Parts: sequence; structure tokens; C-alpha cells
Amino acid sequence: MTERFPELVAPAPWRSVELISDLHLQAGDAATHGAWLAYLARTPRPDALFILGDLFEVWVGDDLLADGGDDDPDRHFWRGCARALRNFSAHTPTFFIAGNRDFLLGPEGLSACGMTGLHDPTVLVFGGRRWLLSHGDALCLADTDYQAFRAQVRSTDWQRDFLSRPLAERQDMARELRARSEARKRTLGPDPSLWADVDGAAASDWLARADAATLIHGHTHRPGEHALGQGRQRIVLSDWHAGARPPRAEALRLSADGGARRVALA
Ligand code: MN
Repeated sequence: MTERFPELVAPAPWRSVELISDLHLQAGDAATHGAWLAYLARTPRPDALFILGDLFEVWVGDDLLADGGDDDPDRHFWRGCARALRNFSAHTPTFFIAGNRDFLLGPEGLSACGMTGLHDPTVLVFGGRRWLLSHGDALCLADTDYQAFRAQVRSTDWQRDFLSRPLAERQDMARELRARSEARKRTLGPDPSLWADVDGAAASDWLARADAATLIHGHTHRPGEHALGQGRQRIVLSDWHAGARPPRAEALRLSADGGARRVALA
């Protein structure tokens, strides 16, 4: 028998929850950082926030938040992000599914941000419906190079080895990886439709296993809704880029009556 996905049953008083992903927060993008801070301060607030991965452009270890390194603008930036999240999550429960950029956010980082980590995928039971939540990268099966890379960096051995290196070395390695990924994107061209997308059959299998009709995910930066047959569908969250023309920043709001609608934030 296949193992069931973990479930989170929303407490009865919840009237609305919001989901965001792919903010790719980084010190060099002040506009998106500002849009995110404005979002955290926005009212009325949802009863819970779900962050479906790639909140941070890169995360090389929770010791980024440790004391010291005050002259490092990146570390300064990450500490500010953690502080803002902690203030927000003090009044609004905040859940986190790791993306391919921030999967090294560990127990200490989660606790510094006041977030509860969730398994990828997790079933959210809310508004009389079962919603399957994921970052989405695990379903981009056509990109076999990426899947091999993912299996490697998600392994305990690789992570133990990586995290045992000095912070400065990890920051250098991350810069190198990002440069390689940017170069690959340039080879593929600016059109995200040429990048690997979520595999429809695999998404349907997950939904059947979860006994859910709707998958909500990010990662692909291709916001939209896709019917998968047999009453199943997937909803793709938007990435955030507040400095783009037109700016991109939105949340998906689920309501207690079972509805889902996009909320433009920029
Ligand atoms: Mn991603």
C-alpha cells in the first residue's frame, strides 16, 4: 500500500488562508523585499499563511542567522527577513514547504522565523476540501538532470558534508551554482514555457493518492490553472518580481466556503 501524504486539518475557526511562493527574496531586490514587507503588514490578515517554497533566493545554512558577520550585507538581510517573519507569525500561523532554493532552511531557521515546516506534499483540509500543497519541483520529471541534482542535494550525506563547510565557502558555492543556473536559463532562453513543467500524469497520481481534487504549487513561475481530467486540477502560484513591468506579486486566498481566488498585491 502506498504511504499516505501528511495532512494538516485547519482549525474550525479559520475563515481564510493565503498561499504565496517564489518570492526569491534577496538583498539585491529591494522592490520585492518592500512588497513582501507591505504584504506582511497588510490587513485584514488571513488566519494562516502557507509559503510554498523559494521564499529565499538561496539559503546556505541556519548559521546565517547566528551572531557575527555584521559587515556581510547578505547576513544582515537574512536576519531582517527572519525578524519580519517572526513578528508576523507571532499573530498568524505560518507554514513553510521548502523550495529548491531554500531547502536548507533547518529547524533553527524555521524557529527563528516562527514557521512550521511541512512535508512536500502536504494535504490541507480546509473549507470542506482537500488541497494538496507542494513546491512543485519534484513533479518536473522531464528535466532529468535537475531530478538527479535534486536527489543528490536532498540526501542526508550531501547535506551533512555541505553544512560542515565554513559559511564563507558555502556562500561561494551557492554563488557558483546560481551562476550556472542563470547560464542554463540563458541557454534555454527567456521563455519559461521552454523550461520543464509539472508532469500532468504525476500530478494526477499525487492527487489520487491524496484523495484531493486540487494541487496548488509554485516553482514554475507560470501562474495559471490547468485541468488534469477526472475533475482534478492544479493551480500554479505566481512568482514575485515587484520591479518588473508590470510588477508581479500575488497571493492565492482560500476561503471557508471552498473558494480560491488570486489577490494582486502590487
Ligand atoms: Mn523553485
